[in-house]
Amino acid sequence: MTKVGFIGLGNMGMPMAINLVKAGHDVSAFDAVPALLEQAHSHGMITCGSAEEAVENVEIIVTMLPNGEIVKKVFNEIVPVAKAGTTIIDSSTIDVSSAKIVHKQGADAGLGCLDAPVSGGVGGAEAGTLTFMVGGPKTAFDAAQPILDVMGGKIVHCGEGGAGQSAKICNNMLLGVSMIGTCEAFSLAEKLGLDQKALFDVVSTSSGSCWSVNTYCPVPGVGPKSPSDNDYKPGFAAALMLKDLMLSQQAADESSMATPMGAHATEIYKAFVDAGHSDTDFSGIIGYLNEMKRG
Ligand code: NAD
Repeated sequence: MTKVGFIGLGNMGMPMAINLVKAGHDVSAFDAVPALLEQAHSHGMITCGSAEEAVENVEIIVTMLPNGEIVKKVFNEIVPVAKAGTTIIDSSTIDVSSAKIVHKQGADAGLGCLDAPVSGGVGGAEAGTLTFMVGGPKTAFDAAQPILDVMGGKIVHCGEGGAGQSAKICNNMLLGVSMIGTCEAFSLAEKLGLDQKALFDVVSTSSGSCWSVNTYCPVPGVGPKSPSDNDYKPGFAAALMLKDLMLSQQAADESSMATPMGAHATEIYKAFVDAGHSDTDFSGIIGYLNEMKRG
């Protein structure tokens, strides 16, 4: 049994922490929202009045927070309190620069730091099947692995500090681009009078195949069950896709890298979210694209 401090009990963090309790670990938990602490208590966690209190005398700390600014704020609270040798796993999706800043802060204080963002959404968090993309020293990775194994189905050590966030935003930039391309192909096919199921049968086994077609087709009734079959309820909300695309563009700017398709996908998802679809699954952009006419 490992003593774990868990900070951030939102849509993702709560089920991840519950899985740690179910696996027999001793979880001290904190969230800024008191109602979530009550819920955590009912699931067998030790609830704490602050982030500092949650990390006193633990061996592993997990943070699952909204963005880089909040992660930096929480690290300022917990790093001075955590005992030397503790491993901190930040599973939030944040910008690469902030990830590198908190890595240095942790390392300077004698802590093992990992950026370990996830893929798999709330369903994966509940099932304990998340994919973890991990950056940081091998010693910290080895110390964290038994805890990551409880929450995840696949754990990939991607490299040094920041490599996990880099992998996450590159993957999701590709996903945003491929989803828009998939929507365009299916919409054009419909206009051409082509049966959507026939297009799926061709593309899913041809050179255009990709996850957005094969696993998460944006057309209802086509392919495996996906949010398109549930009125585009997320799934993976458009606001989260936009967040990750914006992080990809921040990273592209900071490394003077041109990503024209990523930039265009970001603009399109921004327009979709601004039109009131932040809580729609990101595959729901097919309806929005269908309303666009060529100028
Ligand atoms: P969420 O907003 O539901 O949860 C974040 C939690 O952090 C909230 O409960 C909030 O109260 C808490 N919090 C904020 N500031 C705090 C502070 N200073 N101290 C303590 N607690 C604080 O978000 P989520 O959906 O659980 O996502 C968490 C992270 O995981 C994000 O970075 C997100 O991008 C990433 N992510 C989410 C999904 C998804 O499908 N929801 C998938 C992959 C990755």
